Amino acid sequence: MAPEANVCVVQDKLSRHAWWKHAQACWWGDDVLPSLIRPFMRFQREQNTGAQVDSIEPCMCSQRHHILKIVCVHMEYLEDIDLVVCSRRPAAIQLVSQGLFPCSPLAPTLAVSMDMLEFVSDLFVNMAPNE
Ligand SMILES: [Zn+2]
Repeated sequence: MAPEANVCVVQDKLSRHAWWKHAQACWWGDDVLPSLIRPFMRFQREQNTGAQVDSIEPCMCSQRHHILKIVCVHMEYLEDIDLVVCSRRPAAIQLVSQGLFPCSPLAPTLAVSMDMLEFVSDLFVNMAPNE
C-alpha cells in the first residue's frame, strides 16, 4: 500500500471533531494568518509612531453583510462590540487592525488585545515550570 493511501485511511478514520480541528488549523495557517500580516504590521507602525488609528468606514460592497457580536478582552476591562463583516472585510482583518486577535478565523465571538497576548506570552515564558 502506498504511503498516500495510508494517509487517506487515517483521515477517513478521524472523528468529525478531529477532522474539523485539522481543517481549521489548515485554514489558519494557509489563509487567515498570511492575510493578517499586513494589517498587523500597519497596527504596529501606528502604535510605534503614535499615529491615530484610522476609523473603519462602512463597507459599500454589494455582498451580504453580517453583524458579529464580539467580546473583547483588554488588560483592564471587557468590551462588547458589534462588527459588520462581509467577504471583503473579514472579521479577523478588522480585529487585527484594531489591535485585537480573533479566537476563530471566520466568525469569532471573542477577541483578545495584543497587549494582553504579549503579557500572557511573557508570563508563561518567565513562569516557574512547576506552576
Ligand atoms: Zn462589504
